[in-house]
Amino acid sequence: MNYDIAIDGPAGAGKSTIAKRLAKTLDLIYVDTGAMYRAIGLYMIRKGVNSSDEAAVVKALKDVDVDIRYEEGMQIVILNGENVNGLIRTEEVGMAASAFSALAPVRAHLLNLQQGLAKRSDVVMDGRDIGTAILPSAFLKIYLTASSAERAKRRYKELLEKGESADLAKIEEDIIKRDEQDMTRTVSPLKKADDAVVVDASFMNIEEVTDTILKTYNDKKETK
Ligand code: C5P
Repeated sequence: MNYDIAIDGPAGAGKSTIAKRLAKTLDLIYVDTGAMYRAIGLYMIRKGVNSSDEAAVVKALKDVDVDIRYEEGMQIVILNGENVNGLIRTEEVGMAASAFSALAPVRAHLLNLQQGLAKRSDVVMDGRDIGTAILPSAFLKIYLTASSAERAKRRYKELLEKGESADLAKIEEDIIKRDEQDMTRTVSPLKKADDAVVVDASFMNIEEVTDTILKTYNDKKETK
């Protein structure tokens, strides 16, 4: 019996924050699959590869090795031997990740790595297709969402707190664009798995969301 938790949902809904908390409380390994797509996005930006040129993408992928390491419980993404954690959190890399992740060869490139991690230990894995494609028999599937306005506000606050300048309207525009790209692609689009529990975090704080999911998880475990 696996006790994996699959969390899918749109950009900025708080998946990674919640997933990290669940992993800590339940002593599971946290796997951030978005970071893997971001590493590929970064590689393609560096090499000047265009996502509309699938042949060039397939060729470039031959030289891409993405791996994961854990240091003090934190996931480190390794791109061809380089720790890229500090380089993949930009809007530009997020958009590139979204564009390249729509391509089947890119998804196939990461499939074994993601499924292999879940074979080794019970995981909380977040992404866009975890419940639908990567871990279809996960113990618990969550679809975590929030309104685009609320997600944009949170991102805006985060940037201001980091001392960066930010434009709320532009942030919401980017969020809507990324949702659209992720939900309408033909390969593994973002969608709720039939057996996923929907959690709408628009009007809930982090503690409330975490507690809701923990309760669902524990209730499910008791009835097994
Ligand atoms: O979650 P994060 O914003 O880091 O993901 C970056 C992009 O990677 C997403 O917009 C999505 O296009 C892609 N992604 C994906 N499948 C996943 C995780 C991320 O397509 N499992």
